[in-house]
Amino acid sequence: MKKSLVLIVFSLLLMCCNAQNTAVDSVDKSEILETNARPKLVVGIVVDQMRYDYLTRFDAKFGDGGFKRMMSEGFNCKNNHFNYIPTYTGPGHASVYTGTTPKYHGIIGNNWYDKDTKEMVYCAGDDSVASIGTEDKAGKMSPRRMQTTTFGDENRLFTQMQGKTIGISLKDRGAILPAGHAANAAYWFHGRDEGSWISSSFYMTDLPQWVKDFNTSEAAESYLKEWNTVYDIMTYTESGPDENTFEGGFRGKEKATFPYDLKALSADNRGFDILKATPYGNSLTADFAMAAIKAENLGQDAITDVLTVSFSSTDYVGHNFGVNSKEIEDTYIRLDKDLERFFKYLDTTVGKGEYTVFLTADHGAVDVPNYLTSVKIPAGYLDNRARKEKFNLFLKATYGTEEIVENISNDQIFLNREKVKALGLNLIDVQNEIALEQLSYESVSKVYTATTMSTTSFSTGIEALLQNGFSQKRSGDIILVNDSAFISYGKTGSTHGSGLNYDTHVPLLFFGKGIKHGETYDKTVIPDIAPTISALLGISFPNGATGSVLGFVID
Ligand code: ZN
Ligand code: ZN
Ligand code: ZN
Repeated sequence: MKKSLVLIVFSLLLMCCNAQNTAVDSVDKSEILETNARPKLVVGIVVDQMRYDYLTRFDAKFGDGGFKRMMSEGFNCKNNHFNYIPTYTGPGHASVYTGTTPKYHGIIGNNWYDKDTKEMVYCAGDDSVASIGTEDKAGKMSPRRMQTTTFGDENRLFTQMQGKTIGISLKDRGAILPAGHAANAAYWFHGRDEGSWISSSFYMTDLPQWVKDFNTSEAAESYLKEWNTVYDIMTYTESGPDENTFEGGFRGKEKATFPYDLKALSADNRGFDILKATPYGNSLTADFAMAAIKAENLGQDAITDVLTVSFSSTDYVGHNFGVNSKEIEDTYIRLDKDLERFFKYLDTTVGKGEYTVFLTADHGAVDVPNYLTSVKIPAGYLDNRARKEKFNLFLKATYGTEEIVENISNDQIFLNREKVKALGLNLIDVQNEIALEQLSYESVSKVYTATTMSTTSFSTGIEALLQNGFSQKRSGDIILVNDSAFISYGKTGSTHGSGLNYDTHVPLLFFGKGIKHGETYDKTVIPDIAPTISALLGISFPNGATGSVLGFVID
């Protein structure tokens, strides 16, 4: 009785399958293409060091086709934050695309102290691969240190490796980490005397012809020209005076004021590298991204491709001139124009409504502390040398040796565990004693130990951000938090890395296929982006994703 029921069900199933097969056979391929619910291309854009308030501060200067098009056609998440510390470029790019935090993807900094090899390592560095497109070691890079997948990786798996993933950025880590492990390619810019886009043997044995053609087209040379403001500088009322004491500027030019003759200045500023710290670095990135779309036929069929583009110049300009500079304002006005050009290109090559774009940042940045103190806001600079001297005296007096500490980097103290053992000390006691000592230092506001991070679950506050950024295997023994707006940096320009709002609050815009029009002040976090894109594509989430699907942005 049972057996025959199973048989009947089975034959019914077979009939259904057959019917479905004939139905599929009878429609032609173009119809499938038209009814495909997925975008043909997903473009992920990261603007390096973009604070949320740039969207609102420079609003009056933006055109209708760039940032404003994303807002008027798409969805604006106005209260979007990083939910971990440290807010650096490597962790930022990894978190956007893996949908999780350093605790899981393992990119705990741009550089960090490797406890096994006992040396500093670079997040994208890989000595086992070779440079492609240059003799320089700048191409010896891969995503090997990132421990989880990106949504681009998952799309590769989902499409049986037919959907392409390509990563592009002036910075190697801005191209490599977003694209992921199974990417077809990642390209980044090598300046100096070469000015060309390069890659690594992790992806390929030789640059494709279109990249070689782009490199010989003198595209980079064409941007070694004058940099002046797009509009009359007198109309740039949203930023501070052009001449002030808070800016770095270029070598070979006394004042950090417009105009800048980039061709003349390039000799003293590492050749083509000068382009990185000007808005033209972003224009060159957009040019290269469009060349990639064309040559690689991205978004030309129903199988979704993924293109990741990171605009790095905004970060270099912010570090050099500070977040309140005329130079930053002009850089964002010009980026807005590059975005407009890029979206128009996507309209004509992929088709309006056939692609999906999101735009966010890898971190924000602090106002120049000297500027903040000039308007009476608490801020300042850390005196690392004095701190280290005081600390060494403590170590000598308490343990008889300074060698008990192996490394101090990224506001973390790494203990020499062998030494702790050899001295017959208890690791947890040493962590606690050092934490207490550090807390007595000027401008240190909070201190936690690795043991606390591993044994307590924090759901709110700075502790939760530290925990999301903490890797048991890779992070240090003692973790320091500095006072608000206190930085380890030169006296000019801005930087980032903290868990404070100026570093965590960044734009999150979605637009294009499958995206609703709207906006929200509900809090969203960076790891929500990759699950949301994965849901839109109907693919598996990145394997370590911890973020949530932002269902309200999906149409
Ligand atoms: Zn960055
Ligand atoms: Zn200036
Ligand atoms: Zn930076």
